[in-house]
Amino acid sequence: MITLTGIGYDVHRFAPGRPLVLGGVSIPHPLGLDGHSDADVLIHAIADAILGAMGEKDIGHHFPNTDPAYRGISSVELLKHVVHLLAEAGGRLVNLDSSLIAEAPKIGPHLDRMREILASAVGLPPKRIGIKATTNEGMGFIGRAEGIAAFAVATILLPTDATL
Ligand code: MG
Repeated sequence: MITLTGIGYDVHRFAPGRPLVLGGVSIPHPLGLDGHSDADVLIHAIADAILGAMGEKDIGHHFPNTDPAYRGISSVELLKHVVHLLAEAGGRLVNLDSSLIAEAPKIGPHLDRMREILASAVGLPPKRIGIKATTNEGMGFIGRAEGIAAFAVATILLPTDATL
């Protein structure tokens, strides 16, 4: 097996009349995130990190926002599919780490539940799933609370022959 690392980044803008779903958790907030799926920016970054480590194209390629099948879909289902692709390639996930960048809402009260949901979706112990949260200190589009961004890193193992 060879160890590979991938990075993912995503950003979604706030929109009225939308749910706010982060790491699979529905969080009470006056605004949700705009998007074709449930716009779970954290899971999108994580899925892209795994796909990147696999040498695959990004989630926009695997789950096009022009496909009605993905309208309003829970991003947990997309993540499960990505992990399934990894298993099909003979690989497995080692760990995930991620950061959410948002002025609001407060993420801390929801972190443990997010980790439980992600751990169950990807088949890792919660300790192998890092989720941190920070504000942008009031600067830029995140500072103006126009949206939420997320970064993620994934480490995977793949059979050497799958990496050729
Ligand atoms: Mg996205």
